[in-house]
Amino acid sequence: MDYVSYSIEKIAKWCDGKLVADNKNSELIKLAFDSRLVFDTNGLLFFALTSKQNDGHNFIKELYNKGVRNFVVNSSFAIDDNYKNANWIIVENTLDSLQKLALSYRKTLEAEVVGITGSNGKTIVKEWIAQFLFDDFSLARSPRSYNSQIGVPFSLWKIKDFHQIAIVEAGISKPNEMDKLQKMILPKIGILTNIGYAHQENFVNKEEILNEKLKLFKESDLILYSCDNEVIHSKIKEAYKDKKTLKWGRNSCADLQLISKEINSTTKLRFRWQNDEFEVDFQFNDSVSIENIMPVILFALYKGYAYSDIAKKVLQIEPVAMRMEQKDGINGCLILNDSYNYDILSLEVALNFLGQQATKKGMSRTLILSDIVQSGEDDEDIYPRIAKLVKSKNISRVIGVGESISNFASLFSVKDVFYSKTEEFINNIHNYSFKNEVVLIKGARSFSFEKISELLELKQHSTVLEINLNAFINNLKVLKGHLKPETKILGMVKAFGYGSGSYPISSTLQNNGASYLGVAFADEGVELRQKGITLPIIVMNPEIKSFNLMLEYDLEPEIYSVENLKEFAKVVREYGGEGKIHIKVDTGMNRFGFLPNQIEELILELKKIPYLKVVSVFSHLAASDEVEHDSFTKLQVEKFNQICDKIEQSLDYKFLKHILNSAGIERFPEYQFDMVRAGIGMYGFSADRDSNLQNVLTLKSYVSQIKIIDENEFVGYGLSEKLNKGDKLAVIPVGYADGLNRHLSNGKGELLIGDKLFPIVGRVCMDTCMINITGSDVTLNDEVIVFGDRYPASVMADKLGTISYEIMTNISQRVKRVYFKE
Ligand SMILES: *Cc1c(COP(=O)(O)O)cnc(C)c1O
Repeated sequence: MDYVSYSIEKIAKWCDGKLVADNKNSELIKLAFDSRLVFDTNGLLFFALTSKQNDGHNFIKELYNKGVRNFVVNSSFAIDDNYKNANWIIVENTLDSLQKLALSYRKTLEAEVVGITGSNGKTIVKEWIAQFLFDDFSLARSPRSYNSQIGVPFSLWKIKDFHQIAIVEAGISKPNEMDKLQKMILPKIGILTNIGYAHQENFVNKEEILNEKLKLFKESDLILYSCDNEVIHSKIKEAYKDKKTLKWGRNSCADLQLISKEINSTTKLRFRWQNDEFEVDFQFNDSVSIENIMPVILFALYKGYAYSDIAKKVLQIEPVAMRMEQKDGINGCLILNDSYNYDILSLEVALNFLGQQATKKGMSRTLILSDIVQSGEDDEDIYPRIAKLVKSKNISRVIGVGESISNFASLFSVKDVFYSKTEEFINNIHNYSFKNEVVLIKGARSFSFEKISELLELKQHSTVLEINLNAFINNLKVLKGHLKPETKILGMVKAFGYGSGSYPISSTLQNNGASYLGVAFADEGVELRQKGITLPIIVMNPEIKSFNLMLEYDLEPEIYSVENLKEFAKVVREYGGEGKIHIKVDTGMNRFGFLPNQIEELILELKKIPYLKVVSVFSHLAASDEVEHDSFTKLQVEKFNQICDKIEQSLDYKFLKHILNSAGIERFPEYQFDMVRAGIGMYGFSADRDSNLQNVLTLKSYVSQIKIIDENEFVGYGLSEKLNKGDKLAVIPVGYADGLNRHLSNGKGELLIGDKLFPIVGRVCMDTCMINITGSDVTLNDEVIVFGDRYPASVMADKLGTISYEIMTNISQRVKRVYFKE
């Protein structure tokens, strides 16, 4: 790599640290703080950062053995004689020093720095602006969503002296974090995406978040924001009245005003700008994407782009995919497809990952690489660097695609092959044997490398339930957004985590701030404990015969009757110690629970059993999602309050109170008490039409056979449906034993392929169903969605006269669960 390097002395100064160097000539290029991401140790400086979970100092020995020689450490770290030829920058606090380094480094940069903040959309807006400008500017941007106190310094370090524009994300999760980010980023131009509920835990309210975010623009010359939000608009006018602003939005206050939108195959957006009106076609039709494209267009206008160029580029905007696809390939290959963004840095990261996988699996390395199209650098500079980088990574063979890279073929090894077009390579692909190798496919979008990836992937279809953990975590945050920061969340994971898998969901909850878990039966809790879940767990339907097991595994029963209280007390007394219990009161549901007239008796009993500790008292709402029953809900809460008061007065300690389920959290946050019990909302189903909850579950299958129908033919068991000559059918390997309800037979249900729905024909079989695809171009192996993002389970539930809960919990255990997370 030919990036400018810096002497360790200079860096020590920037870090405000004391240098103890065996080799003062060290030239440093790269920074690292995560030992797992250290591959190439040349010119690498490791920051031993400390956090609650981790201490980077613990990895120094391992890194030294890997070849790292330059470290930034806290003064308390003992450097012993075993570290020969190493350099140490000794500081008070490694994170502070990293930030000081970034601050000094930033001041050397000439690039026009654009700072983006907001609650949602930062990364998308950043990536889209980058997609927009790449062809015309030499541009740097924060990798992925590197926007934190640690991420920002690393993002800044990636800006080099030749970059003209740098787009840097700033994200905060606590008050007073933005000042530090602002000093480092020093954005000349600021963009505020929006203010929502994300990360609200540590803030009093939205206004506090807004005030904090706005600090990013303290020294900016220009601020871009949406004036549709009155609070934001007036705040910026007040706080930054002397600054230039450019506004987007639907209101007439906007400089870039969206005046109409028309959704067909694309979305036609019509804008007013200055005295003109212009139109763009956009591939997306959802409101979030439309919100996100506006700052991008506004920024382009500010940069002087013509309407025609803007229209062309907007149409080319692509979804921001944030992960490298990893798939099993033909003949034992592993396929890594990383075609989403392509610059030399991302190539290096991808090559490192390729190396790691190849070493682990003992396989050889193949790289399929296109022209680099948007580097902002001359070919004469960039291809030699790529060739050098590739050589340093022990690649067994390189297949280059594109005219530019082909011109530099001589820089690569003689056995490497070059094609000028993707089609040309595909036409020759049968001449290659791909076997037991890790193949990294890295191409600019315009090269359509997904076609190559498709050919190399092993076709191994099955019916799977995909669980999107990013969406799940998002939903948890959305629900938290309705709550006070101190309100606890109990995640309901009964019934196999509503069908999504108990353990993966529970561990996600454990890692994302839940305080409690709820299961239906003791067995479910035992399994979670055995797999390492440490959160407190309430068992909602505790059976007397499992009380012992529950004590053994530290599971806490719901107590709903005096009999059940006495039984548990007996077991606890024999077992020894204190038993934690949760008192369920019945305020109108008429399911489990003490009725109001049984509370006196409960209190009398509780007083006799001092070794049982009431951890919480709770009740369940019968109709929290139904407006017409809101007065009943309020009555339930009133009863609950009275009962809690009574119990509180007679016990000499406090306990937690909780009554809200998901719909309650969304509709009655005023009744949140100390804790809430979230279930269906975490999986994306809302009682509120406008909610920001995202779909989590996708049940998908594929087309396994296609047939054309002859005269006088029927389909399926019972010959229940007659077909027309020439009809086309697709056979799908998903049936009622998987959870596709048999009542969806004969056209009642539909399955989604691409963006079309096809009716189920004949009766749903145990393992299979048939759909009518007449007139479509559906082909073998096409993906079939039973329900998912664009066809939610709630639609199927409506058709069946049931609720999403039942659809989800009926997906049978034989359907493989596949989890993904960025
Ligand atoms: C299932 C359950 C919940 C969660 O309800 P959702 O509607 O899925 O949010 C809460 N409390 C109790 C007692 C439950 O049984």
